Amino acid sequence: MNPQVEAVVIILALIACFLVMAFFLMPGAFAWLRRLWSPAFFDWLEPLVFWIDDRRRRQILSQPFPSQWHQYLEKNVSHYSLLSDKDQAKLRDLVQIFIAEKRWEGCRGLEATDEMKVTIAGQACLLVLEMSNHFFPRVKTILIYPGGFRVPRDPQMADVSMEGGTMPVLGQAVHRGPVILSWQDIVNPRNEAGTPMNLVIHEFAHQLDMQGGPADGTPFLSSRKLQKKWRRVMKQEYDRLVEESKEGRVTLLDAYGASSEVEFFAVASECFFELPVEMKRQHPQLYDVLARYYRQDPAARWLQHSSY
Ligand SMILES: [Zn+2]
Repeated sequence: MNPQVEAVVIILALIACFLVMAFFLMPGAFAWLRRLWSPAFFDWLEPLVFWIDDRRRRQILSQPFPSQWHQYLEKNVSHYSLLSDKDQAKLRDLVQIFIAEKRWEGCRGLEATDEMKVTIAGQACLLVLEMSNHFFPRVKTILIYPGGFRVPRDPQMADVSMEGGTMPVLGQAVHRGPVILSWQDIVNPRNEAGTPMNLVIHEFAHQLDMQGGPADGTPFLSSRKLQKKWRRVMKQEYDRLVEESKEGRVTLLDAYGASSEVEFFAVASECFFELPVEMKRQHPQLYDVLARYYRQDPAARWLQHSSY
């Protein structure tokens, strides 16, 4: 063999060896690499590159799903009982993996119990039930407070109570960071107007929004056609909510969604899962773009199980 060709072959073989070692010895290496590029870029590589995750996940799923966890899902994840047997099994798998892969921390003396983990995991994983192999890869830690807590003040929000440069919140999703939640507001999910709310869905919708960069109210959308429709419908519906909330009208969507397009997506996601039948009636186009994004039809599930 030509010595130059031989040298190139040796170098390529060494690079291949290094990459193989990286795959085997540093399972986190690709998670780190993935953070540097957009998730869309890695989508086609995922089946090949993340087989290590798959292997670990198969091990997690080889453990039986605790019967007590079943009860927590039935009690605290309202959507669970509406799912088909097949989707319930899928959600249980997602919950089991999600709980095993995240770091859970109770704050202000709270102990993060199994009930808290299953409840939060069940509601968060409902969002990604039809997004294959999606476990919110950028969320490594979930912090749980017993009640509301304070965070550094957002300069864009002027009308919140101030105390030493901080503002009160019930939850927070940090870009490339943790999700922080108030347990009290997960188990008593009502906002000031008495409408059902879902703090977990809200904060994890923000995390979906932040998969490709800082939140802007538009998560990664799979087709240009959907992107086009999304932009048109979201703008129209956001402007409508801003207008209605200025006039002080009672709206199906929480008026908090009028504070920014980022909040609008999170609030619309809550409504999509919590009040899907009403949303489909009052905001059919908004319901349709969210149904295409989440690849789910929660209104159909509710209608099958109720006397609407
Ligand atoms: Zn929010």
